[in-house]
Amino acid sequence: MKKLGRRIVSQFQAILGQDFFLTDPADTVCYSFDASGIESVPWAVALPATTEEVSQILKLCHREGIPVIPRGAGTSTTGASVPCASGICLCLARMNRIKSIDPVELSCVVEPGVITGRLQEEVERQGLFYPPDPASLAFCTIGGNVNTCAGGARAVKYGVTRDYVRSLEVVLSDGTVIRAGASTAKGVVGYDLRHLFVGSEGTLGIITEITLKLLPMPAAVGTMAAVFPSSQAAMDSVTCLFTTGILPRCAEFMDALSLDCIRELLPFEPGPEDRALLIVEVDGPAVSINSQLEQVRQCLLNSRASAVYEPGTSVELSRLWSARRSLSPSIKRLGFEKKISEDICVPRSSLSSMLAFLQDVASISPVEILTFGHAGDGNLHVNLLFNTRDFRSMEEVDGLVRTIMEKTVALGGTISGEHGIGLSKKPFLDIELSPPVIRLHRELKSLFDPKGILNPYKIL
Ligand SMILES: Cc1cc2nc3c(=O)[nH]c(=O)nc-3n(C[C@H](O)[C@H](O)[C@H](O)COP(=O)(O)OP(=O)(O)OC[C@H]3O[C@@H](n4cnc5c(N)ncnc54)[C@H](O)[C@@H]3O)c2cc1C
Repeated sequence: MKKLGRRIVSQFQAILGQDFFLTDPADTVCYSFDASGIESVPWAVALPATTEEVSQILKLCHREGIPVIPRGAGTSTTGASVPCASGICLCLARMNRIKSIDPVELSCVVEPGVITGRLQEEVERQGLFYPPDPASLAFCTIGGNVNTCAGGARAVKYGVTRDYVRSLEVVLSDGTVIRAGASTAKGVVGYDLRHLFVGSEGTLGIITEITLKLLPMPAAVGTMAAVFPSSQAAMDSVTCLFTTGILPRCAEFMDALSLDCIRELLPFEPGPEDRALLIVEVDGPAVSINSQLEQVRQCLLNSRASAVYEPGTSVELSRLWSARRSLSPSIKRLGFEKKISEDICVPRSSLSSMLAFLQDVASISPVEILTFGHAGDGNLHVNLLFNTRDFRSMEEVDGLVRTIMEKTVALGGTISGEHGIGLSKKPFLDIELSPPVIRLHRELKSLFDPKGILNPYKIL
C-alpha cells in the first residue's frame, strides 16, 4: 500500500472497522478499473455503511489532503470511477437500502448503492414506475446514475436520471452534511444545487441519500422491431416516427456491424441483406397500443423496412431486449484489439448527416465504426474499432475522435449524451465549452472542493 502511513490507516479503521477499510493489494486491485479499460490501483478502499461514516472519512481526508475517488459499481465508460494514480476509493456499495416507497407522494428514498434494476423491480411490485433504464441496470447503482445523469432506452419519452431527482443528501469535501432540493413535487427555494450535483461525477460531493420521483406504471406496452437495407432507411423511419403525433418510449438503433454482433441472440432471423435494426416501443392505456403500433408499422414500412417483427410472447420480448443490452459487451467478438466508445448526441434531424459523416471517416481511415444507440434521443454510441499496428500513434486516433466531436457540435449536438466526461473525454471538453464556461466550472469546483480532494482530474 502506497502513501497512507500506519497512523492514518488506523484512523480510517477506527471509523469503519478493519473489515471495511481494505489495504491488501489483492482487495484494492478489484477497485482499480471500470468499463473504460483505464486502470489505476487505489491506495486503499473505504466501504462505509452510513452517512456519518462518510462524513468522518471526508473530515479525515480533508484534514490530511487525501484524494477520494467515489465509486458505485464501477461501470463508468470514461474512467470516472478510477483513481488518477493517487487516493482512496470510497465505494458506496454497502449503502444499498431502499428506505421508503411512497405511493401517494409518488416518490422513494434510497441509498446510493441500490442497484438500479433492483429499485425498478421493487417499485413495480407496487404498481409504480422508475423509468431511467441504462443498459447496465442489472449492475449499476443509483448513486452512479445520479453522478453521470444516466439515460437509457426509455429517455426518449421519460427523460434521464436528472428528471427524477427531487432531493439529495450530500457530504461535502470537508465532511459537512447538506440537503439539496426538496422532497416535495415542487420546490423553488434558492439556487437549484440538487441539479448541480447531478452529473458532477463525484467531483463536488458524496451523495449519500436520494429522493426520486416515481410515476404510475403504464398500463400497457407494445414493442416492434424492424430491419432495414441501410442505416439511412432506419434513420428516415425515426424522423417519421416523431411526426406522427405519437411519442414512442424507445427508438433504439443498431447498424450493420451491431446487427452482426447480436444476430444469433435475436428472437427472429434478420436476412443477409439487412444492414440496420430498429426497436420501437410504445406505452399507454391498453386500448391505445394497437393503434400506436399500427402507426409505428406504417412509418417503418414507408421508410423501406424489409421486415417488421412483433414479439409474440414475453420470452421473445425479453430475448429482444437482452440482445440489445448485450450488444456493448458483444463487440469484443469482432476481434479488434482496441475499442474507443463515444456517446455523442445530435438533433434527430441531423442523425442521417452524422451517420453519413461516420461512414466517410471509416472509409478514409483504418478504423471500423460500429454505431448503435438511443436514436429517438439523437444519442449515438459510436465505437471506433481498430488494431494499433494500423496507426502510427494513438494521437492519430485521437485526431479522428476530435473530428467526430467537432462535427457533432457543428451539427448542434453535444459530445456526451449520457456517459459523461471522466478522464477519457476530458481532452475534448474545449470543443463544446467556451473558455468562460470552463472558468465557471473551475470556480465552482474550487468553491465546493477547495483542496481538490474529490475525484481529482475528472471532467476538468
Ligand atoms: C454494458 C454497459 C452498458 C451501459 N449502458 C448505459 C446506458 O444505457 N446509459 C447510460 O447512461 N450509461 C450506460 N453505461 C455507463 C454506466 O453504467 C453509467 O454511467 C452508470 O450510471 C454508472 O453507475 P455505477 O454505479 O457503475 O457508477 P460508477 O461507474 O462507479 O461511478 C460513476 C461516477 O459517479 C461517481 N459516483 C458514484 N457513486 C457516487 C456517489 N454516491 N457520490 C458521488 N459520486 C459518486 C463516480 O466517482 C464516477 O464519477 C453502461 C455501461 C456498461 C458497462
